[in-house]
Amino acid sequence: MSDHYERVKIELQQMKAVESEAAVDEEQLSPASVSSVPADASFAARRDLSRSSINGRSRSKSRSKADGHERQVNGKLTLMSDLTPLKPDYSQEKGQSRASNEQNIKGTLKLLKGKTPANGHVESCQRQTEGKCEHHGKEDGSKVAKKRRAVTVDTSKAKTSLEALKMSIRQLKWKEFPIGRRAACDIYWHGVSFHDNENIVSGQVNKFPGMIEMLRKINLSRAVRTMQELFPEEYNFYPRSWILPEEYQLFSTQIRLLKDNDSTLKPTFIVKPDSGSQGDGIYLIRDPADLRAISGSQIKQAVVQEYIQKPLLIDKLKFDIRLYVLVRSLEPLEIYIAKEGLSRFCTEPYQEPSQKNLSHVFMHLTNYSLNVHSGNFVHSDSCSTGSKRTFSSVLYRIASKGVDIKKVWSDIIALVIKTVIALVPELKVYYQADIPPGKPGPTCFQILGFDILLMKNLKPVLLEVNANPSMRIEHEQEVSPGVYEYVPSPVDEEVKVGVIRDTLRLMDPAQRKQHATLNTGDGSPEDAIAVETGSDEKESLMDSLPTLCLKQVFPKYTKQFNNLRVAERIAAIFIRFLGVKGTMRLGPTGFRTFIRNCKLSNSSFSMASVDILYIDITRRWAGMLPDSREAGMCLQAFIEAFFYLAARRSKAVPLREQVLLLLEVCEGALEGQSHSHSEKPRPQRLQPTQASAPNTFSSPALTRRHHLRQQPMQLSAKANTEN
Ligand code: ADP
Repeated sequence: MSDHYERVKIELQQMKAVESEAAVDEEQLSPASVSSVPADASFAARRDLSRSSINGRSRSKSRSKADGHERQVNGKLTLMSDLTPLKPDYSQEKGQSRASNEQNIKGTLKLLKGKTPANGHVESCQRQTEGKCEHHGKEDGSKVAKKRRAVTVDTSKAKTSLEALKMSIRQLKWKEFPIGRRAACDIYWHGVSFHDNENIVSGQVNKFPGMIEMLRKINLSRAVRTMQELFPEEYNFYPRSWILPEEYQLFSTQIRLLKDNDSTLKPTFIVKPDSGSQGDGIYLIRDPADLRAISGSQIKQAVVQEYIQKPLLIDKLKFDIRLYVLVRSLEPLEIYIAKEGLSRFCTEPYQEPSQKNLSHVFMHLTNYSLNVHSGNFVHSDSCSTGSKRTFSSVLYRIASKGVDIKKVWSDIIALVIKTVIALVPELKVYYQADIPPGKPGPTCFQILGFDILLMKNLKPVLLEVNANPSMRIEHEQEVSPGVYEYVPSPVDEEVKVGVIRDTLRLMDPAQRKQHATLNTGDGSPEDAIAVETGSDEKESLMDSLPTLCLKQVFPKYTKQFNNLRVAERIAAIFIRFLGVKGTMRLGPTGFRTFIRNCKLSNSSFSMASVDILYIDITRRWAGMLPDSREAGMCLQAFIEAFFYLAARRSKAVPLREQVLLLLEVCEGALEGQSHSHSEKPRPQRLQPTQASAPNTFSSPALTRRHHLRQQPMQLSAKANTEN
């Protein structure tokens, strides 16, 4: 520990030197200003915005009619500033003493504990005295595990991640097959999608089917919104968003009302094309009328989102954080977060948006791909300066100002787990369609790139999740006027090689087997890793490698987050009734069977009403998913139907409780049928999840059952076809 402390002291001294050169006037990061931010600023915004009481629901008009009364985020149009929890602890930071700064630094140390040279920044940043973020040769002296067959990796489809992948394979002493091979490999590394190679029947692939689709901006917004409807407070880390073109009217009306209620309000919105990336096609607006139309008056498919106006600044620059997250498996759900990430900086000093600066991309957008073209972009070999830095160097920097970075880090972990939980239901539907239960197929894992913005009050905000985060370890640089070349980027190498290598280590088939049999599920990541280094042979190799830079966060924190896995239980019911292998849409018969088997129809809800419900919702969702090739009810539509049925059964309690009650009814009925063999459930690789065992969720709903008020809830064909 004291060793670490020494390193941090050196780190801090270096940073101070850089700081004094760079910014005498770094107002935002002085402890006083960080501390004084949240309370006042967000209170004002909260007061202002909450004056307008606008229905916050926006999935669809007809749905509002059918069941809308419960699905509001406090019944108001809530913007990020509105949702931001106050952080009294920061307000105490004014005039923070050196002692408490040191406390924070110790916290930083603990956070980064276990980082070792080749993956951690600690030693490498120490070497910045030489101005370099070097790589370390610890692996070179490693003893090779002799008896064990080397793990085989097919790298033929790796594309731009190839360089980092090769390095990782070399470090692990595994065997690379750069042009693939006839016999099966243990691991297949794809550059883009699960389908890069269609002929895999065993082993492990580094992409999940459907991940790209799920992480398009509209689908991500929808998945998070479903969770916001169930758990508004838990999911307030995602800025308020509207889906275009279908919610254009709603967006216009809500903003008009907001402004009518308070003429001093000047909200800004960011428009992001659905399938865009790297900042492509993104622009800021201050009024719905400024939305750009393409092809006549048609508004392009996009998400328009509340723009976070008060980001945390360093050196007066806006920056975001790219964190790498490994979803190691869906069933059981296993999530790891890389302890190290990247911070990408803007290249023009930040000012709050005004009509004048709205188009200044170098001020508002942190994308590397954009800022690299600015004359102000600083390529640096150091991890803690320049336009791309390690995230830990940013944490050190803010820790030195007295910020409670442990809190920042734990908020980020929570954001990541909650986001993955929002994605899992749909991913399971894709999974069973592509790898039907009982058919040979690979298992999947995937590294995701989370883009996170820290608000001035240090609350992390999710910007987007990338299915294919760049794993390039070189960057384009103008080596002489007009001549560009790819040159090694030490910061990228530092972070990305560690992430890939540790992902491979976690996916080592031998260790996975051991992990599966030995992990009795107490949920400790340390245990999981200890299991993985269990054998002598492995130990010798593991000894020579740095400790994992990937930290398991789920199931480690199962207890805190398992109650959020409600949509996943609905998805399990959906999958059960899909019927035909390889499909993702529920047909009318499947829907009827679901209603019948769960005993949901009765004299006041006839099978004819069931059919109307099915047609209404399915038709409307078909309109919202124009590209879809399959007919039938998609999972999101089924969830909407489920919410409707839940509201119909138990009126006027919060939606979450209505849904939990209905889930109990359905799961109870289906379980009974499975036991009595009256209906044979088709074999499923993705069962209604052990992790989401019914009793995890049942008690709160049951204890409040007697509070339920009964209110009639109508769904008419008319209401649903209005859209
Ligand atoms: P892309 O996939 O095109 O990179 P992002 O959603 O990541 O799209 O947005 C690009 C950049 O815009 C982000 O890196 C961030 O700097 C900025 N940004 C995105 N959303 C917001 C927001 N809601 N508030 C403030 N800045 C944002």
